Amino acid sequence: MTEQPYPVEQPVHRAGAAVLVSGASFAGLATAYWMNRLGYRVTVVEVASGLRKGGTPVDIEGETIDMLTRMGMIDAVRAKALPPRGLEFKDAGDATVGTFDGYPDAAAAVDERYEIHRDDLLAILFASVEGAIEILFEQSIAQLEEMPDGVAVTFRDGSRADYALVFGCDGMRSNTRRLAFGPGEDFSYFMGGYFYIKVVPTTDLLPANLTQIFSVPGRTAMLNGYEDQTDIAFAFRADGEVDYGHRDRAQQRRMIHDHFDGLGWKVPAMLEHVDADDDFYFDKVNQIRMPAWSNGRVALVGDAGYCVSPVAGMGGSMAIIGAGRVADALQRHGVDHATAFREYHDKLRPFVEAVQEKAASDGMALLFPSSDAELAERDHQLREGTLAL
Ligand SMILES: Cc1cc2nc3c(=O)[nH]c(=O)nc-3n(C[C@H](O)[C@H](O)[C@H](O)COP(=O)(O)OP(=O)(O)OC[C@H]3O[C@@H](n4cnc5c(N)ncnc54)[C@H](O)[C@@H]3O)c2cc1C
Repeated sequence: MTEQPYPVEQPVHRAGAAVLVSGASFAGLATAYWMNRLGYRVTVVEVASGLRKGGTPVDIEGETIDMLTRMGMIDAVRAKALPPRGLEFKDAGDATVGTFDGYPDAAAAVDERYEIHRDDLLAILFASVEGAIEILFEQSIAQLEEMPDGVAVTFRDGSRADYALVFGCDGMRSNTRRLAFGPGEDFSYFMGGYFYIKVVPTTDLLPANLTQIFSVPGRTAMLNGYEDQTDIAFAFRADGEVDYGHRDRAQQRRMIHDHFDGLGWKVPAMLEHVDADDDFYFDKVNQIRMPAWSNGRVALVGDAGYCVSPVAGMGGSMAIIGAGRVADALQRHGVDHATAFREYHDKLRPFVEAVQEKAASDGMALLFPSSDAELAERDHQLREGTLAL
């Protein structure tokens, strides 16, 4: 029997082949985990000087639980799971307009749904790859050039290397997406608002294990209370995108003041925290909607390819699911990355679209009501007990 130059059954992956991941958050670390497990040599480049901390807790349910179980991380997640939180809707005088005690569903089996601080989940993911892969902070991709057998990458410090595959896991404003799909189109779907979140140590603004929301048409203030921290969040509606400096923290603070100064409830006390420092997250409420999530040997995972927005409350889960799904497809199709990437997209897309649609319609109306009518409808649903998050 003559030996074939290439076995019909190629190995799942070119053992030891190098892959590059851009971004070290949920999508990037989860993708790095799986690619390492598939036998690739993994390098992650992260533009920040360390893991980017902060943000509201991440919901872990459904397929995310399956993925974290397969990744051997579910026990670590359970150990850090937050207690169930009550949810109260407030008026300007702090009277309770309605409550919702299913956030997450306190009555459901605790095993079925968890909430975990964003930083805790990042730490768990980081620990799972630390030492097994290369992580380069303060580094990012400057140029991508597709070659017949790989991608030639030039980094911003001028260094160069070739990779079998490149994964763009660099968030809603993905650098990889811009390089691989062209600068002309950012695939943004603006949902009509802006979102601010700051995490501070425990405050006397509200008790632990409680979320409170105060809305007037077009503006929502939210507090999450935990035993060890308080999340202070603001969101405001805008008909069109506002031109502002993405790194101009003073301007972003001014935008919050412009929309919230003079409002009642606990807003004045919340605004004092806004003024304290530059350590906060501010961005447009936005989704990424693309016709495809890969181009050649470059594939996008998480917010880079299909950001569902903070309104969906599922960005972290989606990133972890996406990383597992792209790994499953590569496992099935081996070195045929084109088929693997197509399958990853085709199978995951219906789920992503359903989550995006729900967030853009019901989610926005519920969390950021834009008009008196939307606010009245939300309060009606609260009174009737028909509100669904
Ligand atoms: C600091 C922070 C706070 C957040 N807070 C919230 C929140 O409160 N609520 C919410 O719903 N969502 C929040 N998000 C978004 C949420 O984390 C994502 O929706 C979700 O986790 C999907 O993860 P991701 O890995 O796809 O994207 P992200 O979590 O956005 O991570 C992208 C990563 O890529 C890095 N990166 C960006 N550009 C480059 C580049 N050129 N080269 C290399 N690396 C790059 C970023 O520094 C970041 O680490 C936050 C994100 C960050 C970074």
